[in-house]
Amino acid sequence: MIRPPFRRRRWQLTCQQAVELVTDYLDGVLPARERERFDAHLADCAHCTRYLNQMRTTIETLGRLEPESVPPEVLHELVTVYRRIQQDRRAED
Ligand SMILES: [Zn+2]
Repeated sequence: MIRPPFRRRRWQLTCQQAVELVTDYLDGVLPARERERFDAHLADCAHCTRYLNQMRTTIETLGRLEPESVPPEVLHELVTVYRRIQQDRRAED
């Protein structure tokens, strides 16, 4: 079993934190340090990458960002997916 090296790093973002940073990231207002963490998380997380792409498409479609317009059911779905991932990872230990 290969253990991802990033797992024990405290500075690694959780998916929930990454999702919360997506709007700032796309707005370009994320501090360089946070942006680095965000990029590092995306490199290892297909789910957040997909979420980011969806948000980017949404913004391009709407022309501007309305964070509060993200449907609650979408956020709920993400949380559910991420919980399942975490459970799968625990099961691997
Ligand atoms: Zn993630």
